Amino acid sequence: ERVFGVASWGGGYFDIGQNGHIHVIPQPNSPDIRIDFKAVIDEIRGEGIQFPIVIRFHDVLRSQVVALNQTFGRAIDAAKYEAEYRGVFPIKVNQMREVVEEIVDAGAEYNFGLEAGSKPELLAVLAYNTNQDALTILNGYKDEEFMRLALLGRRLGRKVVVVIEKFSELVSLVRLSKELNIEPMVGLRAKMQVKSLGRWQGSSGERAKFGLTIAEIIKAARYLEAHEMGDALKLLHFHIGSQLPDIRAIKDAVNESAMIYAELVHMGFPLEYVDVGGGLGIDYDGSKSTNDSSRNYTLEEYVADVVYGLKEVCDLENVPHPHIVSESGRAITAHHSCVITEVVGEIKPDGAEIDTTPRENDHVLLKNLYELHQYIDDHKNYQEVYNDATQWKEQAAEAFKLRVISLEELGKIETLYWQIMRKVQSYYQSEDFVPAEVQSLDFSISSQYLCNFSIFQSAVDSWAIDQILPVVPITGLDKPPTKNCSLVDITCDSDGKIDKFIVDHELSNVLPMYDIPEDEPLYLGMFLTGAYQDVMGDMHNLFGRLNEVHIFSYDDDPEDFYIEEVVKGSSVDKVLSVMQYHPSSMALDVKKLIDRQVAEGHIKPREGVKWTDFYEYCLEGYTYLNTSKP
Ligand code: PLP
Repeated sequence: ERVFGVASWGGGYFDIGQNGHIHVIPQPNSPDIRIDFKAVIDEIRGEGIQFPIVIRFHDVLRSQVVALNQTFGRAIDAAKYEAEYRGVFPIKVNQMREVVEEIVDAGAEYNFGLEAGSKPELLAVLAYNTNQDALTILNGYKDEEFMRLALLGRRLGRKVVVVIEKFSELVSLVRLSKELNIEPMVGLRAKMQVKSLGRWQGSSGERAKFGLTIAEIIKAARYLEAHEMGDALKLLHFHIGSQLPDIRAIKDAVNESAMIYAELVHMGFPLEYVDVGGGLGIDYDGSKSTNDSSRNYTLEEYVADVVYGLKEVCDLENVPHPHIVSESGRAITAHHSCVITEVVGEIKPDGAEIDTTPRENDHVLLKNLYELHQYIDDHKNYQEVYNDATQWKEQAAEAFKLRVISLEELGKIETLYWQIMRKVQSYYQSEDFVPAEVQSLDFSISSQYLCNFSIFQSAVDSWAIDQILPVVPITGLDKPPTKNCSLVDITCDSDGKIDKFIVDHELSNVLPMYDIPEDEPLYLGMFLTGAYQDVMGDMHNLFGRLNEVHIFSYDDDPEDFYIEEVVKGSSVDKVLSVMQYHPSSMALDVKKLIDRQVAEGHIKPREGVKWTDFYEYCLEGYTYLNTSKP
């Protein structure tokens, strides 16, 4: 548990069961309901679904929606706050229809709404956010079609708030509303002064891409007033960045927005909502700190700071408490899905050893390494061993380029070098002080586990912004790990690797791991992928989307579960079609080529049929490695 820190990042949803398997506890309020990941994997294999796979725990998603709404509800009651919480889910964080439907359904009793940041998202939101009491918040840059769609929402009786990101949007919204005779609901996004921390700190400050300055906010309010639409101004919005690591930035931003809200009310604009945006973080690395992949606060603290922060300023300024809107996406979705990949191979730096028996006219560098290896146990100074061996290996590489040593000699030098390094490493394992160069041996001597997935599809933030995502073997956790590894994916890209992990609460470039068993696959889970990772991945190497299973638990049978739905991932013909290929005519073309070989007598007809069928079978198949035994 300490090694992998499951309880620290698991948010109450994951732990290591007594049998050493990862378990999911989909409803933390009912800890008896626990699903063994191994059982889920066995069922998936039983159904013949290929890995890698995304597993969605819809109960986890529901639990997070309920937790956010109930936490706000409790804080509002405790603070005697005189308005309601009306949260929205920003669908950019995970636009999968099943995810959005589940969130809308779980949030129905709290009038939980949706947020859209683009025209396609707005079209989806108009169709799915049908609760008349829930808000629809529209952020992002908008064209006239976007505004018309927003007004269609108003015609349908929905609470659709167009958040103005730049002044010209207001001009066209006012004109269109008059033209169509539909009363809009207007929000203004403020450019905030508060300095936020974290990877998205550029979302705050004067150089922020979105939002209005104070002068522009005043100008916008007055513009509405001049067009006798002052009452349409309903909401003040800010968003100072996703994954906010430090609670102080949130407190400061709430305070700043409350002051702007109060001033607008004093100016005669009785806004109804303050929207505190997203930013509620996830503790990906389990450190509960201000690291970029962590947060130094809990959900309860976040909610209390929003509720009490607004109340305090409103009471001082003697203005009504506004309804509170938040746009938490990451916090709702991150835990609910994970990627399960199979380790399909091991890449060792010393993967092949060749016979190093000395020969009379061996090159002096080879002789040196041979002697060092033979008498290593007599050495007192292992740092010197490390330095000498490393220098001779480097010199050997140069000597080979100058044709001074042969390929075979170089191979022997490599073999001896890694044998020596393993001895150096094992010597230092029992030492308190390990020299810096030798520390790096842990990494260079470690294996790379080749995993059947694409980081660019399934964990894009790990590649793009060094986001830490927890990776844990699914079984065997009741035994100590046997080796250290980093992970590489199956794309033809050397960036397709993971070499940043949190191990025993420290950042490490290797992950403690187990040997690959002979008789069954070694499955690794990459967790907390439900926010952004699920939907932002790309088609590098044409791997495409993963097979997906949706899991539900039974309330009356705490250890059982069922696969509610299987969503097929990308097939080869599908990804090729996206790139403008025509798979069916490709199959015909290849068939013709095979037929010609048959006609010319190079291939027997029976073999020709088999090759044709095989080509078509692969076209229809899954894009990832097929590890099932034929
Ligand atoms: N609202 C807006 C305007 C955003 O830009 C974002 C994402 O950055 C969010 C909400 C969601 O933020 P988070 O996922 O941190 O909750």
